Amino acid sequence: MIPLVDLQAAHAEVAEEVDAGFKRVLATTGFVGGPEVSAFEREFADFSGVAHVVGVANGTDAVELALRAAGVGPGDEVVVPANTFVGTAEPVARIGARVVLADIDPATYLVDVDRMLAAVGPRTKAVVPVHLYGQLADAPRLREALADTGVAVVEDAAQAQGALRHGRAAGADGIAATSFYPGKNLGAYGDAGAVLTPDHDQAIAVRTLGSHGGLQKYRHDLVGVNSRLDALQAVVLRAKLARLGTWNQQRRAAAARYHELLAGVDVVRPATLEGNEHVWHLYVVRIPGGPSRRDAVLAKLHEAGVGAGIHYPYPLHLTPAFADEKYPAGSFPLAEQAAGEILSLPLYPQITADQQEQTVRALKVALES
Ligand SMILES: *Cc1c(COP(=O)(O)O)cnc(C)c1O
Repeated sequence: MIPLVDLQAAHAEVAEEVDAGFKRVLATTGFVGGPEVSAFEREFADFSGVAHVVGVANGTDAVELALRAAGVGPGDEVVVPANTFVGTAEPVARIGARVVLADIDPATYLVDVDRMLAAVGPRTKAVVPVHLYGQLADAPRLREALADTGVAVVEDAAQAQGALRHGRAAGADGIAATSFYPGKNLGAYGDAGAVLTPDHDQAIAVRTLGSHGGLQKYRHDLVGVNSRLDALQAVVLRAKLARLGTWNQQRRAAAARYHELLAGVDVVRPATLEGNEHVWHLYVVRIPGGPSRRDAVLAKLHEAGVGAGIHYPYPLHLTPAFADEKYPAGSFPLAEQAAGEILSLPLYPQITADQQEQTVRALKVALES
């Protein structure tokens, strides 16, 4: 069996530090916030080259708090890519704002920046480029185009810890949200997330909103939520952060190996946007021929013990919770076509050459049958 993601292999590398850290926290019983959380926030900010990091309870909350800190409120419109994890769109709906969709660039699966800008209207309060699969969408171009319009750029960096665009990380030049869901490049042992921002006041706003609307006990200046980072999760994240640079390097090497092994194979290999340092959260190929062929290939891979996946099988407008009569099937043809053809191959820092070769052999057999 070759898993899609091997969390056991990652744990083996940090087990001792995690153990020692858990003992430290248990000795103090300070389970929410505290010195481990502050230390992680500082270390992750330094790692990312970002001024401020605020730990929160999960990535979906991070997107919501970032949107609220950027001024999004009920009745506003927020533009998001048609193909993303549902956690990008839920927060928009939770705020009472309206989800507006934009189609994708079929080569990178990132949002098409021109289409995202074309979807901006008089009620738009924010756009959310999603840094899908481990590479950054062109947020700088969005910021430049939207400067002085009052439309915020809120980056969803859940899949891009350590990724750079022209040497800068998400959150270095504008507000970004990230997730430390266990399977992410930097994963906790449960739910966790963070907001990154260059702006001190915005960081305070996020921390206030996430702490029941107040930074002093029993003083609540606004109606907030309970979304904070747990000390035990911070212990795990600190131990893993110390290895993230190496792990991302190992992911890059594994992606390069897939690229070589797949030369001449009847799949479309993933493309990297010029100027990007990719961190390969996922290695996504395209199986030409549509959903029935792709699904057959996926089933064959599973039969062969290869844990391939689909990220994601339905674009948002074809997801029941986000169905909108303004967006019938066919509204976002590039996202729809991609959803029917994409396939994620097993990828994690500790994957071996042998496992990758086995995966590609099984893929070739599946493609031929
Ligand atoms: C994982 C993810 C989220 C949500 O994060 P959770 O921690 O699971 O709430 C949001 N957006 C994207 C693109 C993600 O991959």
